[in-house]
Order: sequence, then C-alpha cells, then structure tokens
Amino acid sequence: MAEAVNTEIVIVGGGIGGLAAALALSQIGRRVMVLEQAEKFAEIGAGIQLGPNAYKMFHRLGIVEAINAIAAFPDFLMMRDNMSGEMIAQLPAGEEFRQRFGYPYGVIHRADLHGVIFAACRAAEAIELRTHAKVVAIEENADGIVAVTEGGLHVSAEALIGADGIWSMVRERIVGDGAARISGHIAYRAVLPAADMPKELAFNAMCIWAGEKAHLVQYPLRRGELFNLVAVFHSDKFSEGWNAFGDPEELHLRYAEKCQEVRTLLERIESWRMWVLCDREPVRDWFKGRVALLGDAAHPMLQYLAQGANMAIEDAVCLADMLVNEAGDYGRAFRRYRDARYLRTTRVQLTARLYGEIYHASGATRDFRNAELSSWSKEDIYRGMSWLYGIDGSWRDGERRAASAAEDSGAAAG
Ligand SMILES: Cc1cc2nc3c(=O)[nH]c(=O)nc-3n(C[C@H](O)[C@H](O)[C@H](O)COP(=O)(O)OP(=O)(O)OC[C@H]3O[C@@H](n4cnc5c(N)ncnc54)[C@H](O)[C@@H]3O)c2cc1C
Repeated sequence: MAEAVNTEIVIVGGGIGGLAAALALSQIGRRVMVLEQAEKFAEIGAGIQLGPNAYKMFHRLGIVEAINAIAAFPDFLMMRDNMSGEMIAQLPAGEEFRQRFGYPYGVIHRADLHGVIFAACRAAEAIELRTHAKVVAIEENADGIVAVTEGGLHVSAEALIGADGIWSMVRERIVGDGAARISGHIAYRAVLPAADMPKELAFNAMCIWAGEKAHLVQYPLRRGELFNLVAVFHSDKFSEGWNAFGDPEELHLRYAEKCQEVRTLLERIESWRMWVLCDREPVRDWFKGRVALLGDAAHPMLQYLAQGANMAIEDAVCLADMLVNEAGDYGRAFRRYRDARYLRTTRVQLTARLYGEIYHASGATRDFRNAELSSWSKEDIYRGMSWLYGIDGSWRDGERRAASAAEDSGAAAG
C-alpha cells in the first residue's frame, strides 16, 4: 500500500555502513531514515577485524565501551606458512601496539558489531529504521529526493546516501559500472566454540596461515568464547552471491597438501558458509546531485586487508563532519567527503588485491615473501602499517592529496 513520509536524509541499506552513517548523522542533529530490504536488521555469523582506525571512529560515535565489552583483543598478529607450519612474522598487538597507534586492534563477531551500532541507532530519537523496504527507484527534483520502495513507500528527503553494498542499485545510478568483478577466490567461513578448538591452536592471535592458492585465517571472538575460521582458496566452482552453504569436499581437496595444523582446524568444522569474493575498480564518482555513496557501495574491496567495514565506518564519520563543515550544503559537503576519502579507499582496494597475491604465493614468490617478511623488524612492520592505522581523523590529508591529484590531472575531479 502506498505511503508517503519525509525525513532529512534517507539511507538505503542498514548494514554496518548504513547504520554507522545514521548514527553519525543523528549526532550532528540530522533526522534520518534507514531503509533496509531484509526482514530484520542483522549480520551473518562471522568475524570482523577492527583496526585502530575504526576504534578512533568508535570514540567519535560514543560506542567504544559497548564494543569493548564484546570484542576480543589478540596478543599477536601473525603470519605462518601453511605448508611448513612455520612462523613467517609476528607482531605484538597488545599494549605496545595500542601506544603506537593510540587505539587497540580488536576482533569482533559481525552480529555483535552490527548489534552495538543498531542499539545506538534505536536509542537515537532522530533515527527511524524500516525493514522490508527494498528501494527500487530514486527520483530527484528541485526540492529534494524521493526513494521509492518495492512496497510503495515514498520517502522524501533533502539527500540520499547509498549504503547498499557491493551490488548497490544507488551506485548503478551514479557510476553505472555494471556487475562486480569476480576475483576467482572463495571464502568459507565458520565460527567454532573455543572449547572445540585444539588446545595447541587456540592461541590469542589473529593468525594468517598463508600458502599456495589457499590460506586460512583464525582469531578469537566474543571475549575469547568463540573462534572465527575463514578459509580462502582459488576456485572456479561458484555462483555469485553470499552466504550459501559451502562444499566441504572441495574445501578438503584444496587443503589436502597443507600442514597438519591447518587440516586439523578445518576438520573441526562440519558446516561452512560460502562467499564468492568480488570487488570493483576504484572510482571518483561517489556522488551526483543529492545522492552520495558510502561503504561497499562506494569502494567494494577484497577482504585481504580486513578493512571494508572499517572504511565504511570512517566514511560515516567523515560524511557527518563535512556536512557540519559546509553547514548542510549537500553539494559542497559531498564533494569534500569524496575528496577526503577516495584516495585512501583506492589505496586500500588496490593493496587488498596485492595482499591476496602475497598470501597465495608459491615457488620463488613464496620464498621471497617468507625471507622478506621474516627479516622485518617490529619497527619496519609498524612503519608499514602507519598509513592505514595512524589516521588523525581531521580528513585534511585526504583533501590535500585529492587537490594535488586534481591539479596533476589538469582538471577538478568531477
Ligand atoms: C570473507 C570476508 C571477510 C571480511 N572481513 C572483514 C574484516 O575483518 N574487517 C572489515 O573491516 N571488513 C571485512 N570484510 C568486509 C565487510 O564485510 C564489508 O566491507 C562491510 O560489511 C560493508 O558494509 P556495508 O554496510 O557497506 O555493506 P553491506 O554489509 O553489504 O550492507 C548493505 C545493506 O544494504 C541492504 N540493501 C541492499 N540493496 C538494498 C536496497 N535496494 N534497498 C534497501 N536495502 C538494500 C542489504 O540488505 C544490506 O543490509 C569482510 C568481507 C568478507 C567477504
């Protein structure tokens, strides 16, 4: 049945990015409506790594205590070779790391992260959350924007944020770059009670078992009560989409030659969920008129840097900051938001692809990876991470770099 309502800013998509944006915008005094196509606001069962850059944003959003109550904090970030089982590199991730970057490295269940942001949104009077609200059309006129849902809801607003993920219909309207790029890599994910983990492998670390055409990531979740396992391998057996059941037979075949530790971990899981991993080329077109993109809709990336959700949360805070800086002038605020963000997210998108190559290296490339990474000092590793984790949160660096990129290309970036 047709229904017409209005708000100041309408957000398409209630994932981590859309809800973080709603929270940030409500905190600058904006009235927001989030339209989510699913029947409820929820996230699937798997883990998310949180860099110090995300923690900086949690402080800004006032949710750091709620996150800390449910996250886990690894003592180490490590990479091991999944053929020999040997340690390639290990970095302390506790107090020293925290001192270095100002904030900790955390790991959290996706449902817990989403749940904390959702609870904060529910508590905010200025936010209205709607489910069963798949946006199928967007109309722009001189007065503003109207989002139309499949069920006939018409939401009039001053502006619209597309936080509708990698298959974004809002992006299609702005960028029009068609289907996402299928990487040929597949992730199988599972969560295991800590009691079911082999004792010798239940260490408090984020560990990447790197190896030819396949790697495994493990880390604790929910204060250490659970463990997250993500097996990623090259495969041509897939259909596009998220969250289907995986085929354990294929998985065990792909890891048959891997070290005993990795095979032991995989054997502990009976049922896997499968993700076909996709990304897109980086773009500058993040906004058009009164519509802007955020999170995976703007910069979908492979997960090898564990930063997709972190970037979406940074986007949310930056967008709100720019609306304050530009006193609500959407055109100027969206441009500054894009400028502040797009070179950083481009770097993350491109680096994530490269990391995928490094994790899955074989032959001489594997030898080089192991020799090189094992020779790095702690200081070398910290220095290598500082561009990603050591942000100051003022967004000035991004804007300055975007201005110089626009100058170099001889035109203001459109
Ligand atoms: C295997 C794997 C591991 C990962 N690990 C990490 C990690 O450790 N750290 C990290 O930071 N990131 C990680 N990521 C990336 C992270 O999951 C994503 O970047 C993040 O979830 C993107 O959030 P989003 O809100 O932008 O999009 P999404 O989570 O895709 O949310 C989009 C929402 O929009 C809704 N929607 C879509 N279309 C419409 C419509 N037309 N109308 C209404 N609603 C709509 C969807 O239902 C969905 O709820 C990982 C990803 C994968 C696949």
